[in-house]
Amino acid sequence: MSDKTLFQRIIDKEIPADIVYEDDQCLAFRDISPQAPTHVLVIPKKPIVSVATIADEDQALIGHIYLVIRNIANELGLGNGYRVVANCGADGGQSVDHLHFHILGGRQLKWPPG
Ligand code: 5GP
Repeated sequence: MSDKTLFQRIIDKEIPADIVYEDDQCLAFRDISPQAPTHVLVIPKKPIVSVATIADEDQALIGHIYLVIRNIANELGLGNGYRVVANCGADGGQSVDHLHFHILGGRQLKWPPG
């Protein structure tokens, strides 16, 4: 049994994913259980566990990821708006211990979340 996280296995191409963008720093792929018509996950290739463990040295990487999020949203036609979510830790509802940003769009999203 691998001790890699699920998302590390996707980065390493050990399990398939519907990849929408990839560069040397990050990977974006469609969520297997979409909660909106468009639901993409953007992850750093660096194995950061969560928002809570982002290091000061990761500042440029996180900025890069947000520019990638902007570009993906544009390319996927989310000009009417979308939501970016990073669940963090147990109370935040995080289920995979590799930092990931959800891009959700294509329908009117409600607030507050559950
Ligand atoms: P979290 O709940 O940690 O914020 O988000 C984890 C996300 O990963 C969930 O939305 C879940 O549907 C997605 N997910 C879980 N397993 C897989 C998988 O094997 N492939 C893909 N593409 N997404 C997955």
